Amino acid sequence: PYTINQVKELVREFPDFPSEGILFRDIFPIFREPEAVECLVGHFVEQVRGLGSPIDAVVGLDARGFLFGPLIALRLGVAFVPVRKGGKLPGGVVQAKYQKEYGVDVFEMQADGIQAGQNVVIVDDLLATGGSCRAAEELVGMLGGTVVLNAFVISLEGLEGRKQLKAPVYALIEC
Ligand code: 5GP
Repeated sequence: PYTINQVKELVREFPDFPSEGILFRDIFPIFREPEAVECLVGHFVEQVRGLGSPIDAVVGLDARGFLFGPLIALRLGVAFVPVRKGGKLPGGVVQAKYQKEYGVDVFEMQADGIQAGQNVVIVDDLLATGGSCRAAEELVGMLGGTVVLNAFVISLEGLEGRKQLKAPVYALIEC
């Protein structure tokens, strides 16, 4: 079995990807080791249970939040609700725009994904500027939900993404 510190060591760094000057953190090696995934998911479930407030849904962000968000939701026995890039979800949706490095992007959530009064946890692989997670917080708010935690594998603290967010942040790796 993996310890959480061994899971952290599986994250790799790729200089100059996807463009020059960017140090990309790659979490996919974790997913090649079922016992590392088990440890990671168990760790996040503990963080959520430690909040002490009941959770109704895990909201995963497109696309790497879809890797482990559903696993956490399954373990907690709650809904998984995806936030997707604009134009991918059928039916009624709510929309929020966010700033990317170049230009603006749109996130959407199905309007019936969350009910008013529900508590949710947002999950994604990495927190950078916080723009995408902030948009996801807005979507949850539009539907009357409350974000009780934003949970990441990695947080790039120098970019101060947490300051953009309303709800508290948990990150397994802070760098
Ligand atoms: P933000 O909106 O906080 O600036 O950027 C966070 C988003 O960018 C996340 O959805 C994350 O998947 C992606 N991202 C940015 N840099 C990296 C990186 O180095 N590694 C990974 N895995 N994702 C990144």
